[in-house]
Amino acid sequence: MAVRKKSEAIDKRARCIEVMERLRSIYPKARCTLNYKNPLELLVATILAAQCTDERVNQVTPALFQKYKTPEDYVAVDVTELEEDIRSCGFYRNKARCIQRACKAILERFGGQVPGDMDSLVSLDGVGRKTANVLLNECFGVPGIIVDTHCARLARRLGFTKEEDPVKIEEDLMKLWPREHWGTYSHTLVFHGRSVCLARSPKCQECVVKDMCPFPDKPSQTRKNPKTK
Ligand code: SF4
Repeated sequence: MAVRKKSEAIDKRARCIEVMERLRSIYPKARCTLNYKNPLELLVATILAAQCTDERVNQVTPALFQKYKTPEDYVAVDVTELEEDIRSCGFYRNKARCIQRACKAILERFGGQVPGDMDSLVSLDGVGRKTANVLLNECFGVPGIIVDTHCARLARRLGFTKEEDPVKIEEDLMKLWPREHWGTYSHTLVFHGRSVCLARSPKCQECVVKDMCPFPDKPSQTRKNPKTK
């Protein structure tokens, strides 16, 4: 019984890696699409990116990063001024407070530097495991799996997990993905989720892994699109 379970786990892992490598060949440039030059800029950009597109954040950050260069700069202004500076990213009141509280903690507890470990990062306001893993991958060379809405949806559709909770999804993916690919594979799923495996109507007929995907609601080739005349 134990031997069978072990062999099933190996099969699942091999299948998963084949799926991921096929996808990776389609998106060889999959990467973090937020623009930044240092850990503080990426921290702020990831907080702004909650419930907002990376494109919108990238429109706002050039002026923002020109004005605010250090944690002190973010803490020194009145919060209403910061709110106005980030308004177009949505949820601006909450995000402005998160940025200020995170910067205050960076000054008080981390000597003014964005910390480079998971426990310290998630102790900052507005920083969950997803944001922390973005920072660890991008700025500190530590592999991390970034479970955003696309990654979670695709991981479920592709049969890598049955979980809904991002932390549990991350744990399942950790068992399947080679550690050195955690960051790249996460971005690959995001790219595929944005262009082919869309939330409402996945374009399964265009998908390079359709023969390996167990998603039961794949539209069939013959199904008529009601909007098609
Ligand atoms: S076959 Fe469809 S559901 Fe499966 S990964 Fe491709 S687009 Fe997504």
